[in-house]
Amino acid sequence: MQISADQIALVNKQINALVSAGSFYGKKLAEAGISAVNSQKEFEQLPFSEKADLRDAYPLGLMTAPEEEIVRIHSSSGTTGLPVIIPYTAKDVDDWGEMFKRCYEVAGITNMDRIQITPGYGLWTAGIGFQNGAEKLGAMVIPMGPGNTEKQLQMMQDMGSTVICATSSYALLLAEEIEKRGIKKNIKLRKGVIGSERWGEKMRNRIQESLGIELYDIYGLTEIYGPGIGINCSYNTGMHYWDDFLYIEIIDPVTLKPVPDGEWGEIVITTLVKEGAPLIRYRTHDLSRIIPGECPCGRSFPRLDTIKGRTDDMMKIKGVNVFPAQIEEILQSFPEVSSEYQIRISHLDGKDTMRIYVETSGHTDFQDLANRVASKVKSVIGFTPLVKVVEIGLLPRSEKKTKRVIDERFD
Ligand code: ZN
Repeated sequence: MQISADQIALVNKQINALVSAGSFYGKKLAEAGISAVNSQKEFEQLPFSEKADLRDAYPLGLMTAPEEEIVRIHSSSGTTGLPVIIPYTAKDVDDWGEMFKRCYEVAGITNMDRIQITPGYGLWTAGIGFQNGAEKLGAMVIPMGPGNTEKQLQMMQDMGSTVICATSSYALLLAEEIEKRGIKKNIKLRKGVIGSERWGEKMRNRIQESLGIELYDIYGLTEIYGPGIGINCSYNTGMHYWDDFLYIEIIDPVTLKPVPDGEWGEIVITTLVKEGAPLIRYRTHDLSRIIPGECPCGRSFPRLDTIKGRTDDMMKIKGVNVFPAQIEEILQSFPEVSSEYQIRISHLDGKDTMRIYVETSGHTDFQDLANRVASKVKSVIGFTPLVKVVEIGLLPRSEKKTKRVIDERFD
């Protein structure tokens, strides 16, 4: 994606603020003698920032605005070691709300909707992000937070919630509960805003059909405001993102060079107007691509494709690079398997093995299905996995993120 002159001017303001604050990235720039960029080429020579840099800045090394202007912090939960702390000014909080409001609007949600929010509240950006945007829109918020399915379903019926905000796993769990209890006639949901997890077409269709609602994918990460920086429109041709707040590049995760629009790679984000903790060329490790051309909806905001996974999800099995999304795509070509699956990789007798667990209903011949899935994986990816077919409902469902790949080689 070409960087515009307006965007370059904004990047230069961010560079200025970072250098004057002497934050980790400001120091990097000062050391490299960079005080401004004048072209795409110069921009692409700016150093990347990485999650590790942000962690090293713990606790408040990212703070770029004066203390009296910081109104809040959020934190992303690191799986290892220290978390990352992101300070926000009042304007940052407001900008984030503005972006999130735009997301709801693109999804056709209005101030007459009642929005039930199930992502968590607290240090992380999920629940409060959904809430800020909804309040800016003027909708009625039902701030449930996660878990307690019993109460969720009760409030959903009593309050007549029309929009559900959830992870895809939790939306699926709710959909299955609603079916099981036969309470669909009491449910007024019309839309779902689903965030923070990669999910496949099959799961999407399952939730969509069982609840009879339209679904929207929301994108975002704590380091860059939080959820709400992009969402798909009703044409479902990728997620529009807000290029007046962010500049997005796609890079090859190995060579670190930007790739042309349309090609897959890692999403790298530069904030354009952030005050509390601006980030330049932040490597998200999320895999996607810029979708070239115009969206049929006519919006001029550029589009990112659905997140395909993480650069660090890449599994090396028998010398072949494999992404979980590739396995998922193969499974989706079998109408008789459910949306749930699990991949287990282990090292037995000196060899890597991949076991794939899939679910189906009792009418299918399990062994025959297992053989067909195994040979499809062999033909597409190049090695034969062990496929284990189980009864529908046996694989774990979760209220948060479902862990689908378990690598037992390093246990
Ligand atoms: Zn569109």
